[in-house]
Amino acid sequence: MINIPKGTKDVLPNQSYKWQYIEETAREVARAFNFKEVRTPVFEHTELFQRGVGETTDVVNKEMYTFEDKGGRSITLKPEGTAGVVRLFLENGLASSPLPVKAYYITPAFRYERPQAGRLREFHQFGLEVFGSASPETDAEVILAAFSFLNKLGLKGVKLQLNSIGCPICRNQYNTALKNYFRPHLDEMCPTCRSRFDKNPLRILDCKEEGCKKYTSGAPEILDYLCDDCKNHFEKVKSLLDSAGVEYTVNSRIVRGLDYYTKTVFEFVSTEIGAQGTVCGGGRYDGLIGQLGGNPLPAIGFAAGIERILLLMENTSAGFPEEQKPLIYIAGMDETSRNLAFKTALELRGKGVCAEVDHMGRSVKAQFKYADKISAKFVAVIGENEVKTKTVNLKKMSDGTSKEVKIEDLSKYLLQEEN
Ligand code: ATP
Ligand code: MG
Repeated sequence: MINIPKGTKDVLPNQSYKWQYIEETAREVARAFNFKEVRTPVFEHTELFQRGVGETTDVVNKEMYTFEDKGGRSITLKPEGTAGVVRLFLENGLASSPLPVKAYYITPAFRYERPQAGRLREFHQFGLEVFGSASPETDAEVILAAFSFLNKLGLKGVKLQLNSIGCPICRNQYNTALKNYFRPHLDEMCPTCRSRFDKNPLRILDCKEEGCKKYTSGAPEILDYLCDDCKNHFEKVKSLLDSAGVEYTVNSRIVRGLDYYTKTVFEFVSTEIGAQGTVCGGGRYDGLIGQLGGNPLPAIGFAAGIERILLLMENTSAGFPEEQKPLIYIAGMDETSRNLAFKTALELRGKGVCAEVDHMGRSVKAQFKYADKISAKFVAVIGENEVKTKTVNLKKMSDGTSKEVKIEDLSKYLLQEEN
């Protein structure tokens, strides 16, 4: 037996309906907000992520699945969705299409992390991006799309945390203040934080080491350093959320894991699935498109972790719709009636009815038992008589009642009963 790789998961036939429900809900929300789907390759040139995610991030430093392909190129499995979508946007000249461009994706992502509840090596994200708009309305719309998605799934206990990390101008002053604050403690901090100190001190606030957290709690707050433009932008985003009736808390410790964020950053956090409580994170990244070689253009987006959402839904009362079940099982007795069962099922399937027949050469009694096990809603038995009359006795499994229905009327009858 060969086992599944560490940190990956199978989706079993009796679980996939949950995934489909989450994905369908994502698509529904994306459609309502007028986002269109994009798909990018599972692997890209390593450099895209080095430049697009940032050299000071854990993702690039420690977590990427990087390998050399047979042509000697350095290739990386995508660790997140945004960099690929930005590449798609630039490479296909979408910057010259009417702005803003609104795109969404559902994708697997790969990070070499220590697997635990809510933390996998292959995981999945639903994310969306808006390119070309700098307005606070866009920030609010992106946050509201995430909110709407989580809300539609019934995740009421997820809290929105909001922050602004400013623009390169005000961040510069803040970085100086941060460095002055951390400098005396640097010797006691982790090597990663020591290297962040020079390159991107803001990221120290994102450190998960207990030894570093002790110092980050007393650090100066970015919100006290915002320039007027960033301050006004943040105020407008908050007031738009207020008028949409969405609750949030401002948390100056939210800086996000990736280097490219500017101004608004946010997370949706749950306290119900343990340490890995962030189900969705996002923010504005006005610098990224320029950094990846395009003409600078503002952008904003989020990514939600599907496994964490699934975990949360299973741990709370959010609930899923019913699993798919056959609407009808058609049992056959002898060869002629089995043939008719087979043909009838095929016709019903063509009309959108989920129909099942025997594949195992079972007796009628055993077929009935099986139909019950797979939770077929109706069962019809076809025998000599039914072949002649072209009529079946349709048994409703939930209450045992039955009804004579002409075979040609079956689809109409069943589809009515399904709703
Ligand atoms: P964390 O701080 O939990 O490591 P992150 O900041 O690295 O999260 P992002 O890069 O913002 O995460 O990814 C967006 C979302 O993707 C996260 O909020 C989370 O729901 C999900 N996610 C990230 N990494 C993993 C993982 N290894 N396994 C499962 N889900 C993940
Ligand atoms: Mg991470």
